[in-house]
Amino acid sequence: MLSIVSYTLGQVATNTYLIADNETGEAVVIDPADDGEHIAAEAEKRDWRIGSIWLTHAHFDHLAGAAGVADACSPTPPVALHPEDYTLWRMQGGAAFFGMQIDPGPEPTVDLHHNQLLSVGSNGFEVRHAPGHTRGHVMFYCEDAKVLFCGDVIFQRSIGRTDLPGGDFNTLINSIHTQVMTLPDETRLLNGHGPETTIGEERRHNPFIN
Ligand SMILES: [Zn+2]
Ligand SMILES: [Zn+2]
Repeated sequence: MLSIVSYTLGQVATNTYLIADNETGEAVVIDPADDGEHIAAEAEKRDWRIGSIWLTHAHFDHLAGAAGVADACSPTPPVALHPEDYTLWRMQGGAAFFGMQIDPGPEPTVDLHHNQLLSVGSNGFEVRHAPGHTRGHVMFYCEDAKVLFCGDVIFQRSIGRTDLPGGDFNTLINSIHTQVMTLPDETRLLNGHGPETTIGEERRHNPFIN
């Protein structure tokens, strides 16, 4: 069974997800937004071991906690990112754009690509490349748990912004139609900002899709 705990962290209220196979204790952090030590402590108190850090994309508000998680875990969990977001990662996720400076943590060593299969214990995940908010944005889909970790692709009644470097509105809309709306309506959308929703709800109410 997949356990999911979420935290809203950092200066722009970004959702971080700590997920684990609750039988084996194998865990992954998706988008450590801030307070890495706190995320690591939350895993520790559940007897979960963080084996990897998965980034949906390289914006600073989705990785500012990676250094803290990495420092608190032994061995250091590898960071996974799509190669098309490496340039953005090297620019500290665009933090300077917002007048900030961050420590991006360990260099990504796991290249994510479309349709790649990942696992957290016995839970399988499919990587879905969904460019438009950034070039290398990916989502993590667990069919058994009926959940899509969709980062900044789609939000409740809204979609990701496309005015930052690497963003493109038509590309994002195309990603939403081909990589999100093709999944079952009951799929939970656990996104980067704001409340969770479902694909069915967004099909009915999201003004950008209809
Ligand atoms: Zn973003
Ligand atoms: Zn974000």
